[in-house]
Amino acid sequence: MLIINSISKKYPGNEQFFLSNINLQINKGEIVSLVGASGSGKSTLLKLIYGILDADEGTITFNEKPIYGPSVNLLPGTKGMHFVQQDYNLNPYAKVYDNIAPVLPNTDLDYKKKRIHEVLELLNILDLKDKQAINLSGGQQQRVAIARALASGPDLLLLDEPFSNLDVILKNHLKRDLEALVEKTGISILMVTHDSTDALSLSHRIVVMQNGSIVQEGSPKQIYNQPQSTYVARLFGAVNIVDASSFATTFNREVNTSDKVLIHPHEITLSSVSGTPAKVLKAEYNGGFELLIVEIEGLNRKLQVSYPHIGRFKKEDQVFVSIMSYAEVNE
Ligand code: ADP
Ligand code: MG
Repeated sequence: MLIINSISKKYPGNEQFFLSNINLQINKGEIVSLVGASGSGKSTLLKLIYGILDADEGTITFNEKPIYGPSVNLLPGTKGMHFVQQDYNLNPYAKVYDNIAPVLPNTDLDYKKKRIHEVLELLNILDLKDKQAINLSGGQQQRVAIARALASGPDLLLLDEPFSNLDVILKNHLKRDLEALVEKTGISILMVTHDSTDALSLSHRIVVMQNGSIVQEGSPKQIYNQPQSTYVARLFGAVNIVDASSFATTFNREVNTSDKVLIHPHEITLSSVSGTPAKVLKAEYNGGFELLIVEIEGLNRKLQVSYPHIGRFKKEDQVFVSIMSYAEVNE
């Protein structure tokens, strides 16, 4: 559906940043997440896809038609695609209803009204329809922007940090709705997110960007369990990255190809009887689990352990550590 072929882009006056040789394909009915450190080029890529920016090199086609930037296309945007930008791009003085209305044709006014009500209801903001956008909270504005994006029934939805201003309850609600929408209508979603849980739970595929390049692409499980670098590993929450040699000696395990080892905090177990001796430096309550920091003599890093039995081990306790699984990973 969307094919990005060897796209490169630099910003005039910004010598450091260069989006280089991006290749990516989005299929029908797919949810793809773009993740990467701030400044890695995620928003730039979405703007190129939507035709708000011109690429220096490469081509983008959508439903077999080429996408052109503003140098060719005076009005940015592509039929069948909708983009919810980070700043929402609402008309602040127009009512919520009137912010959404322009994306729908005036050929059938009854349908138009019905459709606007439908999307407002879906995002739980029907009661706001007569309010001016400027009088809404950030989360409410975000929902208006998403409602507007959905109203025209796009084939591809581009979302830049769609959940950043929503509380957990609302976010989970919207995530389920987006999933249902993809299943029901077969639209595709390409979204930028910095929340690793959102990316892991919602995506069919995750694309990782670093310094203007795509550095890894795969299923959430592949990216989480076999990150190709410590950069990728660190994007997905608290992780332990230990020197390979120190790890191999301390735990008597084999490390063959890498200079670092990745151990997820839930892949470590603690016991009071057997394992590698360690000392608890800190126990932090996290709701369903406790995050313990333990120190092992000879290991170059303290380990973060996610432990399900609240209160069993305390600061200063002696414990024994076992590693259930680990991955070899390069810097
Ligand atoms: P992300 O969305 O991943 O945080 P962006 O795509 O917004 O990253 O930005 C990538 C890089 O390009 C950053 O270094 C940013 O400062 C730079 N950049 C973004 N927009 C412009 C612009 N209009 N002019 C010059 N540099 C820009
Ligand atoms: Mg951005």
